[in-house]
Amino acid sequence: MSGQEPLGREYLLHEEIGRGAMAVVRRATSRQGGLPLAAKLLRPELAGDRRVRELFLREEAALRALHHPAIVGLRDLIVEGGTLALVMEYVDGPNLRRYLSMRGGRLTPAEVVTIAAQTAAALAAAHHHGVVHLDLKPENILVRRRSTPPEIRITDFGVAVLLNDTDHIPAGGTPGYTAPEIFQGGAPTPAADVWSLGVLLLELTTGRPTGDPSLLPGPLGPVARDCLAPDPRRRPPARRVAAYLQQFAGAVRPSSAPPASGAALAGPAGVTDPEPTTLPLGFPPPQLPPPTFPPPAPPQPPRPAFVPPSGDTLGSWAGQLPATGTYAPPPPPRPRAGSRWRSGPLITLGLAGLAAAVIVGINVTATAGERTSNLVTKVSVPPPVSPVEKTGSTAPQPAGTLPPTSEVALPPLNTPAAERLRVTMAGKVDDEAGTLAISIRDGAAIAYICDGDRLEAWLKGTAKNGLLSLTGKNGTKITGLFDATRAAGDITVGGKAHRFEIGVVSKPSGLYRLAGRVGNARVNGSWIVLPDGRQVGVLLKDEQPAAAPVLDVTNRTTTVDGAVLTGATTIDVDTGEGF
Ligand code: ADP
Ligand code: MG
Repeated sequence: MSGQEPLGREYLLHEEIGRGAMAVVRRATSRQGGLPLAAKLLRPELAGDRRVRELFLREEAALRALHHPAIVGLRDLIVEGGTLALVMEYVDGPNLRRYLSMRGGRLTPAEVVTIAAQTAAALAAAHHHGVVHLDLKPENILVRRRSTPPEIRITDFGVAVLLNDTDHIPAGGTPGYTAPEIFQGGAPTPAADVWSLGVLLLELTTGRPTGDPSLLPGPLGPVARDCLAPDPRRRPPARRVAAYLQQFAGAVRPSSAPPASGAALAGPAGVTDPEPTTLPLGFPPPQLPPPTFPPPAPPQPPRPAFVPPSGDTLGSWAGQLPATGTYAPPPPPRPRAGSRWRSGPLITLGLAGLAAAVIVGINVTATAGERTSNLVTKVSVPPPVSPVEKTGSTAPQPAGTLPPTSEVALPPLNTPAAERLRVTMAGKVDDEAGTLAISIRDGAAIAYICDGDRLEAWLKGTAKNGLLSLTGKNGTKITGLFDATRAAGDITVGGKAHRFEIGVVSKPSGLYRLAGRVGNARVNGSWIVLPDGRQVGVLLKDEQPAAAPVLDVTNRTTTVDGAVLTGATTIDVDTGEGF
């Protein structure tokens, strides 16, 4: 549908850009010019339904209260005859459902972290204003075209509830994404959105909205598991999830491909998306030790989409984590007085056995390329199978008053067992800045970067909880994510930061060094041996760097100025040599 139909006195309607169960969304412009807009028009066939009109107006009220970089901005409400329309900021780009299918059904953990961090921050802002979205899912998250890392906007507050508005009955969301307590007739609390966020983490990472969340790679496992706690009181508040994920979001880029090669989002027509560089799930330690967070990163240029809600700092979140030690089971939830949230009514979580719950809601399912939508005023569904059931992490609580999510003592996002991963990863760093190898052994990490000529640096640190944190001399440092097969992040060396994404290599590839004397000169050589046998190394002769001569990896020898030097050592992740 295209053309130039008027909408109210001020706007013109153009082509359709999307549709859901309740509305058709069309591109719009203002007669006075300005930025492109989107008009969400209540479907005419539903305009007579009082409840639907109410949902629509509720969306307007919710959006009016919210101003956040990751929430679509509201411009106007048009009520004109039978027409009911929301005029909003136009987000140029696909919804996350389509984005996901364009990327082959799953995203890299780094992209998931980036998207989930923004989503959590937007939810936190909504919750702060007393708005619960209640229909968070990929169809209702828009991804800005060509944004790298992907920048999102949450839309469709059509079934949102305003917690201070006691007249409004809760409405349901979409089966699969909706928290179990909502299906069981419980009151909507911010924790319901946190559940949906957990489902989102699962689906974006694995391609499926169900499964064992603690198996997700890196920092995603613990956070997804906590978001999907069956007891809403045990889910972390969105602001805490946002603060937690934001640390990682800054550390890695979304994909190994540079924007020019297609990592940037192309339009639906002529899509040239690269193969998704998905890190396989195989991240070994679902049970992780408490993270030891690296020092906060140096100030970065502001990125509006990542601004946490006020009061959220890395420090405040990190301060709630035990620095070291073993995991203690979280204390039972304790409501606190003076809640900002209206407490929910008594609900019996034992209702899980009940076959159905009747709610008013919108049921939309969308698949790659096509969307089927149906408005339902009664959804009769069995309680969704909790993705965390397998972990049995939190038993259903007996009946009790649901305290507000943000006001209870919450478990830290981590778990006990020691990390057991022994791998070496190697590859090139972006910007031709050098070759990097990182060896990881049971939580300890050693890295070496060199350009095969003058630049080199050794670094040491930790590889825990999916997070790399290493430092070396002169401010050299690495921060990033890793799993059993890859590592990605930033390395700062020689005062400059470079991105890297490197994969696992096996012996004899890896790191070597050799110290000795040639005549009166002290000699120190360091080498990275790559899988194809190539070597990159730097030899310091009385502290003067030069390209390293070839290392005989088998005999651990090299020849400098005609003299054979023996006794090279390696960083061996299996035996521990060099660690
Ligand atoms: P419904 O309430 O009917 O589900 P939504 O608000 O979810 O409607 O919008 C349906 C679709 O329209 C979205 O999935 C998205 O593709 C598109 N859309 C919605 N809002 C915008 C916007 N502000 N800019 C661009 N596209 C939008
Ligand atoms: Mg929708």
